[in-house]
Amino acid sequence: WKHAPPHMRAVIESSLEHGEATALVYGDERLTHSAFYRSTAALARRLIDDYGVAKGDRVAIAMRNYPEWVIAYFAATAIGAIAVPLNSWWSGPELEFGLTDSGAAVLVADRERIERLGGALERLELPLIGVRTEELPEGARSWDAVLGTVACDQRLPEAEPAPDDPCTLFYTSGTTGRPKAAVGSHRNLATNIVSGSYSRFRSLMRLGLEMEEVQAYVDGMGPSVVLCVLPLFHATGAQTVMLPTLANGGTLVLMYKWDPEEAMRLVERERVSAITAVPSMIAQMTASPRLGDYDLSSLMMLASGGAPAAPALVSRTRRSMHEMLLGQGYGLTECSATATTNGGSDYLLRPDSAGLPVATVDIAIFDAAEQELPPGEIGEVWIRGPGVVHGYWQRPQATAAAFSGGWLRTGDLGRLDDEGFLYIVDRVTDMIIRGGENVYCAEVEAAVHEHPAVAEVAVVGIPDEVMGEEVGAVVRLLPGRELTGQELAEFLEPHLAGFKIPSRVHVVTGELPRNAAGKLLKKHLKREYGWSADEEGPAG
Ligand code: ATP
Repeated sequence: WKHAPPHMRAVIESSLEHGEATALVYGDERLTHSAFYRSTAALARRLIDDYGVAKGDRVAIAMRNYPEWVIAYFAATAIGAIAVPLNSWWSGPELEFGLTDSGAAVLVADRERIERLGGALERLELPLIGVRTEELPEGARSWDAVLGTVACDQRLPEAEPAPDDPCTLFYTSGTTGRPKAAVGSHRNLATNIVSGSYSRFRSLMRLGLEMEEVQAYVDGMGPSVVLCVLPLFHATGAQTVMLPTLANGGTLVLMYKWDPEEAMRLVERERVSAITAVPSMIAQMTASPRLGDYDLSSLMMLASGGAPAAPALVSRTRRSMHEMLLGQGYGLTECSATATTNGGSDYLLRPDSAGLPVATVDIAIFDAAEQELPPGEIGEVWIRGPGVVHGYWQRPQATAAAFSGGWLRTGDLGRLDDEGFLYIVDRVTDMIIRGGENVYCAEVEAAVHEHPAVAEVAVVGIPDEVMGEEVGAVVRLLPGRELTGQELAEFLEPHLAGFKIPSRVHVVTGELPRNAAGKLLKKHLKREYGWSADEEGPAG
């Protein structure tokens, strides 16, 4: 096993040290660390022997957050192949795009994804392993049939990939355009295991505790029980949540899909100690009328990431949930995935900051002329370090545009303060320029969130002949509350300069459109309200 890639060595060590401890929980199913390792080794062997999978071949995974997802991911990456997680929300044609774009050699998929792909499977002539279904197209084999033929004590086949060999293709969310796959390496995976553990440790140190107290706290926590509320096909779910948990001997509790009440039920039942979620999920839990019905006292860390978190969320979470470490992280698929974290007292003092870079990351702010900017000035956030991927799969132009000289240009606008804390102010593409003045959506959204009636808000730019762009907002209120655009403007007046106050406001009752990762789909909203440059529509 010493020839296994580093992240697999960590999994093997977990199975030796914590063999009988639970690694995976899904519904009533439980898999110990040693059973998880044996299944992974068995599938790895079958991929080589039955499917001829060799180093560098792509193994596509298209299913819900099942234990089989986790096993397929580790099996593929353990043998030097490349795991290709596909978005389980994708339609048939989108899934087909992912399979052809990545040039997959094998597909491991569940019933719904197989049904969506339909005739495409025949067209692609792709070997298929069907998960949790017996209704399989001709030639496909079921997961149980594939694994059933392998003796239980299978050892992991030897593989000696180099640190920079590719082992994952994660498609970016597609929030700003067509998905591109970021090519992750073994070095990137190993980096995640280190930086995940480090940032938790740092949050404790920065609480002002002495070393012995931190040690006692960590010992008292034992291996973490982590509720995975994010989809595994996103880098944050797989790389930030799943990988460090299993590599450190912890327990990963999987959910079929996000549901705030089910999440609270699982926290109580499994004594969950940590959750990493997108901000909207945390907002839904804290606003749930059932919040008080569950025992959430095991929860020691609740972190948000993946999207801007309004500072108001911190105070709401603190009011409605018992004392625990709150935090937020910032990152991208392209840096696989966490770049900064803000936790504990730092987060309470600076709830608007994405935090300090993790140990493996350098951050700098650059202007359009590629000059580094001093603290306080806003520019594009650039990231450097061993977690940054080498580029996009077969997209030389996009790679050249985003990666240069070891730096990743994030497409996010931000600033650093004198102590090195990062503040994300907007995406370069979302920033509104109204009459020559820059308006950062995240700042306006945070101010709107301060209104006690507001549950959700999205701020977008609306093309305008006179001003260039106008500021628009779509606001969802908490149940039973009322608010007009005029009242909102009056509320914002003391907090925001006039040019930042949304001039067109839609108050809605339904949830705002989000992708599978819980990110706001602003382009959908702009289309819906006729706020895109190319479309006419009702003005609010
Ligand atoms: P695409 O690149 O396809 O448009 P995407 O950028 O949404 O998709 P991800 O890699 O999932 O793909 O998301 C990274 C982006 O999410 C960051 O660039 C940033 O804009 C946003 N983000 C992540 N964490 C935070 C945070 N803590 N605060 C503000 N924004 C965040």
